[in-house]
Amino acid sequence: MMNPVSWLIFILICAALGCIAFIVWRKWIAPWRQVEDVITQIGRGERPRTFLMEGSAPAQRIGFQLEKIVGDLERRQKQIAKRESGMQTIFSAMQDALLVVDSNRRVILTNQTFRKLFDAPEISVATPLLEIVRDPTLDRLLTDAFRGDGPVRCELTLDASQIELHAVATRNESGEITGALVLFHDITELKKVDQVRRDFVANVSHELRTPLSILRGYIETLLDSPKTPREELTRILRVMERHSDRLELLVEDLLTLAQLESGNPNLQMGTVDLSSFLPEMVRDWEKKLTRKQLNIIVDVPPDLSPIRVDRTRLQEALYNLLDNAVKYSREHGEIRLNARRREGEIELSVSDEGIGIAKDDLPRIFERFYRADKARSPDKVSGTGLGLAIVKHIAQLHGGRVEAESELDKGTTIRVVLPSAM
Ligand code: ADP
Repeated sequence: MMNPVSWLIFILICAALGCIAFIVWRKWIAPWRQVEDVITQIGRGERPRTFLMEGSAPAQRIGFQLEKIVGDLERRQKQIAKRESGMQTIFSAMQDALLVVDSNRRVILTNQTFRKLFDAPEISVATPLLEIVRDPTLDRLLTDAFRGDGPVRCELTLDASQIELHAVATRNESGEITGALVLFHDITELKKVDQVRRDFVANVSHELRTPLSILRGYIETLLDSPKTPREELTRILRVMERHSDRLELLVEDLLTLAQLESGNPNLQMGTVDLSSFLPEMVRDWEKKLTRKQLNIIVDVPPDLSPIRVDRTRLQEALYNLLDNAVKYSREHGEIRLNARRREGEIELSVSDEGIGIAKDDLPRIFERFYRADKARSPDKVSGTGLGLAIVKHIAQLHGGRVEAESELDKGTTIRVVLPSAM
């Protein structure tokens, strides 16, 4: 049996042990549990509510350090996100499609243009490229790029588009090839322009060659037979004159076209009163009109206010239209030269009752050198095929456009539409 004093001592010892245990728990166990919780939360990618550790000074110091580390980490993450979104903005603004693959031909990066081009709205990282594009040309290009001898290029046809591909190997810090970057540039328009240029050169050469070879042929004839009878000589000289006229016309039209298409067409804008300008212009045509007994009607509303145009260029355009109207009219036909105001526009038109233009030809008559069936023209006239291209250019230089309407064997109307406020 314990006496009361022993009980008291026992209780005091227990209380002392309890106090010690409490102090040890508060100072040495609780703070490290807190540290453990905080680290677990950081590990899960969460931001701990507090970094304040109760009790032990070392645990508190660790709390401060952890707060600093988390702060740094957050700042860095923000920087990375900002950089990433900047890169994404650049990539999505790129007109060219972009592809980065690793050396196993798995996709690392693509931009929006690439995904649109290959109709793949979502491409996850590490997708084998073959699952998106199955093209031997791209395959070969990558093989060449992986050799690491510098940038390589090739062309690819995708539906109706021509694509130029540029690829270069990507390397890590120690210089080993890690993959390749490929840029896809759409060159369809460039190719078209190039084709137009080639056609133009071919057409010019062809157009020049015909009269030149005829002239050369006759010159040889004259040299070989100096005693050609006078009558025959006159006939030959007339033919030569016709062909040299044609050559001159062609060169003139080519020069006009070249100037109109140059960056500096040098328009001399001025005020033109159509109600006096058009009748004046028609007066120069009397001879040609009477030769074919053509009747011309000029129709300009008297209240039509003057327009601002380059007078000489406008005259040139209407001259070409009248020239066609006369050329493609039958004898005793009628030609109308109209001017009228449309909504915010001025429309000038030349109509005839001539041979007309076939439906298939109509959309192409403003192309350079395009000529509809020559055999159908009344005088078997051969123009240069540049007249309407010149008209179109003049209209466009004034901010306007051209329109054509025609029915075979009934007649043709060509309109030059100009903005009225210039
Ligand atoms: P061209 O010098 O051959 O007349 P253009 O460029 O002026 O060249 O015209 C292109 C083609 O459009 C002509 O060859 C002709 O076939 C057709 N064309 C133009 N105007 C008329 C018209 N008023 N009537 C019939 N055909 C026309």
